Amino acid sequence: MRAILIAGNWKMNPGTLAAASALAQAVKDGLGHDASVHVVLCPASVHLGLVDQILEGSIIGLGAQNMHARPDGAYTGEISGAMLVDLGCTHVILGHSERRHGMGETDTMVNQKLHAALSAGLIPIVCLGETKEERLTDRTEHVLLTQLEGSLAGLEPVQMAKVVLAYEPVWAIGTGLTATPEQAQAAHAFIRNRLTAQFGAATAEHVVVQYGGSVKPDNALELLACPDIDGALVGGASLKADDFLKIITAGREAARRKANS
Ligand code: PEP
Repeated sequence: MRAILIAGNWKMNPGTLAAASALAQAVKDGLGHDASVHVVLCPASVHLGLVDQILEGSIIGLGAQNMHARPDGAYTGEISGAMLVDLGCTHVILGHSERRHGMGETDTMVNQKLHAALSAGLIPIVCLGETKEERLTDRTEHVLLTQLEGSLAGLEPVQMAKVVLAYEPVWAIGTGLTATPEQAQAAHAFIRNRLTAQFGAATAEHVVVQYGGSVKPDNALELLACPDIDGALVGGASLKADDFLKIITAGREAARRKANS
């Protein structure tokens, strides 16, 4: 059975080291040592070192929100995979829609970063998802297929097994709109079928596919209980420790139900 992975994408928040440190501490204290759900915090890059220190001794992973595809060199303002590992990172988010749509990140760039992240020993969380217009014009599957093929090009099954995917419909991110469990499950099943076609059934069954898009305490369980939804990438609600901990509790309940089904 796939473990449920709940990741908090703090984006460019909170505004101070003190607030980031308090948020990480509150999640750590609230989580305890129950490892039935995997948890990762993804603070801003300038807060990674401090959050790593706070998370020491806990079961919480540390993720970055982006990285550069090159291992070193003249890339002003960029951060390499090895630097992230050195800071204590276990994960890195790649191809978030705010980078694809706001900063022109393409599938080819995501693919280069993905290979670099794996080489550095990081677990990549690769985001994909359709815009509202693409959904309304029935192009969701076409878009997902294009993003999967482009972003995952050149991976061997053994590498794919280490990758986490996050299906994040762009129209649901930060909008308060959430895909219904039926819409999300359909997209996740489509993604898993494509993984089966490209990497084989054993690998596809192994890959964790998170859902992201306005996940909140009151909708988390119905989403996480869907058979092909293996976790959540949480933006806004991860900035409030209480809400994030409630989503983790929902993840534990979903894991329990799946184990008993
Ligand atoms: C995200 O940033 O990946 C995200 C899903 O944000 P939110 O939960 O706020 O929609």
